[in-house]
Amino acid sequence: MQSSESSYRRGLVEVADGVHAYLQPDGSWGWSNAGLMVADGESLLVDTLFDLRLTAEMLEAMTPLIQTDPIGTVVNTHANGDHCYGNQLVDGPGVRFVASEAATKEMDEVPPALLAAVMDSAPEGPLGTWLTHAFGPFAFDGIEVPPVTDTFSGRASLTMGDRQVDLYEVGPAHTGGDVMVHLPDAGILFTGDILFIGGTPIMWAGPSSNWIAACNLIATLAPEVVIPGHGPLTDVAGAGEVGEYLRFVRAEVEPRVKAGQDPVAAAREIDLMVHGTKFGAWTDRERLIVTVHAMWREMDPTYVPPDIVGLLSAMAEDFARIGRPTA
Ligand SMILES: [Zn+2]
Repeated sequence: MQSSESSYRRGLVEVADGVHAYLQPDGSWGWSNAGLMVADGESLLVDTLFDLRLTAEMLEAMTPLIQTDPIGTVVNTHANGDHCYGNQLVDGPGVRFVASEAATKEMDEVPPALLAAVMDSAPEGPLGTWLTHAFGPFAFDGIEVPPVTDTFSGRASLTMGDRQVDLYEVGPAHTGGDVMVHLPDAGILFTGDILFIGGTPIMWAGPSSNWIAACNLIATLAPEVVIPGHGPLTDVAGAGEVGEYLRFVRAEVEPRVKAGQDPVAAAREIDLMVHGTKFGAWTDRERLIVTVHAMWREMDPTYVPPDIVGLLSAMAEDFARIGRPTA
C-alpha cells in the first residue's frame, strides 16, 4: 500500500518504473501535486505548479530524469492556476500543451494578472486575512501561460515511446474541464483535483453527479497508485472517501433546497454536521460553502450563486469562524 503518510514529503517519489509524483505537503490551498512519466525519447509532465519559483524547483529536481528524454508533452488536468501557472517554464520548440477544450476556455477566464491584482488590493478584515492565508505564499507576477496546443473532449490517448497514456475528461465537476491521466501499463492514475486527500474538496462547477461518477471511474480503472491533485498518494479507497463526502453533502443540501432555506445559513448548518464526522478533520473546511452554492444551483436552476469575489468573501468569513482544524 502506497498511501502511507510516511511517503508524503516534498519532492519526487517514484511510483512505478519511470513514473514519478511530485508532492507538495500539506496539500492545502495552492500546494498541488504534479507528475512525470519518462518514455523512450520523450517525457510527459502532468501539471505544473502555482508559480514560477515552485515550478523551477520541481523542474530542477526532475533534471536527472529528463536529461535524455526531455519533456515534450504537458497535460494540464484543469484550469486552476496551481496546475498550469508554471507552463511557460516548460515551453519550447515542439512542446505540446494538452488540455480539455473546456479547461482551455477556463484558462483564459482567470488570468494570473487577475489573481496578482486581487492580492495587491487585498482589503483589511476577513477577506484580506484569508487571501494571505490561502495565496500569500505564492508569487503571481511575470506569469504568462502559453497557449494550449492540443485540445480534446471526452477521451483521448497519447502514445509516447512504447507507453500509452489515456486521458479521461470527467468534468464539469471540480472545474469546467477536469481531466484524469491514466497510465494503464504502470497502473498509475493522476486525478488532478478530482481527488483532494486529507483536504476538503471544493466544487466550483459541478454537477456533483459527474464528480461522483469520476470517483466511480477510478474504482473501475483500479489503479495501484493514485496521485491526487492535493495530498498524499492514495488508491481507490481515497476516491471512495471523496465520493462519500460529496454524497453526504448532497444529501444534506437537497432537503434544505426543497424547504426554501437560505443557502448561506444552510451551509453553516451542514458545516456543523460535517464537523461531527471524519470529514471534519480535513483541512480547508471553508470550501464547503462554495460546494453548497454549486449544488444549490444544480438542484434549483433559478438560483444564481454569488460571483467569485462573493464566494471568496464567504469562505473568508467561514475561515474566520472555523479556523484551521487541529487534526
Ligand atoms: Zn488544485
